[in-house]
Amino acid sequence: MKRSFFGSATPAFKYAVSPHKIEDIPMPEQAMLFVDQPKNRDRKYVIKIGDTVKTGQKLNVFDGVEATTISTVTGTVTDIQTYRSDYGQTYAALTIKTVNDDMDEAIVALTQAPALNTLSPYSSNLPGAPNLSVFEQYASAIHTVVINGLDDDLLVSVNQWAAQYLTSNIKAGVGFFKDIPGVKRVILTAPERMLSVVNSSGAEISVIEEIYPKVLPAFIMRDLLGTVLPAGDTTEKHGVTFIKAEAVAAIGQIVSTKTLPISKVLTVVKRDGSCQNVRVRMGTPLKSVFDALNITTQTGDRIILGGPMRGTAIYSENIPVLATTDGVTIQNASDIPRVSTDPCTNCGECIRVCPADMPVNVLVRYLENGLYQEAKDLCDLLSCVECGLCSYVCPSKMPIFQYIKLGKYELSQIETAEEQDE
Ligand code: SF4
Ligand code: SF4
Repeated sequence: MKRSFFGSATPAFKYAVSPHKIEDIPMPEQAMLFVDQPKNRDRKYVIKIGDTVKTGQKLNVFDGVEATTISTVTGTVTDIQTYRSDYGQTYAALTIKTVNDDMDEAIVALTQAPALNTLSPYSSNLPGAPNLSVFEQYASAIHTVVINGLDDDLLVSVNQWAAQYLTSNIKAGVGFFKDIPGVKRVILTAPERMLSVVNSSGAEISVIEEIYPKVLPAFIMRDLLGTVLPAGDTTEKHGVTFIKAEAVAAIGQIVSTKTLPISKVLTVVKRDGSCQNVRVRMGTPLKSVFDALNITTQTGDRIILGGPMRGTAIYSENIPVLATTDGVTIQNASDIPRVSTDPCTNCGECIRVCPADMPVNVLVRYLENGLYQEAKDLCDLLSCVECGLCSYVCPSKMPIFQYIKLGKYELSQIETAEEQDE
């Protein structure tokens, strides 16, 4: 079954307008920094409890592993634990007792003369976690940079906010991308209502509909650039890379003010569905954000990293705000929709809503039985754009979105194992 990627379903979820007001969350007394744990579990820690770290310092955590994480706080390491996230992701979680910032000299030197090759190794630490390494990896073959002026989930408005209110940094960031060898177009996508502010960004402006999930990269590739992504392909393979507006503003801040961005914007979706944007030091535990906003959680409540359609539930309020954290959603225990093991009734709702025109009712049967290769070969699993709409509409409350993410993860594990055997 090799079929066209997109169907004609038109989901009708509109984005909310980003609030202008933003609240600054105070620096926490204790921060937590996550450092990717290498696959080889025998790696020894070289960092110790009692060590001091400076803001902007490269964190040498594992013996023989080159550091790519930089500290966003200054202070003393008080604890080192392993944190297991979902889909096999494991981190060293460093708890830092914070003091006033003392900027690392190496980072000061870096921000004085920012360039693609010097910023690239650090870029995943910047707000929005831009991946600048793609420009080197694809050796000048990236010809188009698309800046997302809307966010990749409903209710979240970090990038919408950045595009509207960080205009001078966005302009400087656009200039940075225009100067990269091979880049011919820098496009900023925004809804019509934002045109008056984004018009002066220096980027080519493209108007997009504020309908979820039309702002996801696969749809922008199709609607704006006329390229239908083959299943499993990255946009970079087709010469296009996507960068969040907040990330462009972060690079613009380095270029124009020679300072390192260490805070980011976060949308907090409260129990009543109201949304508030806050500016928070990266590494701040969510609990400190909740305390500052007078939000208390109770047993049975659910905390979701991200928005309502694509977010992931977490099990601890001590998880820190990372460079990639754009939203946190709090749900009352009584409002949590049940997830069930009820069987699929073949109602067809998921097929009608799926914007990638996938046979979701068949796909889910393969996935719930662990038949991942069949899900890929017979139901185009890799064509799924992970919008979450199928889970949202399923009357049997099947966790389809989670099955899909698990299926893709398991397939990637199988492929990695096969490559290592060769
Ligand atoms: S998440 Fe569900 S609705 Fe969205 S593209 Fe994938 S299968 Fe289709
Ligand atoms: S929406 Fe749920 S119950 Fe209906 S066909 Fe899809 S998976 Fe089956």
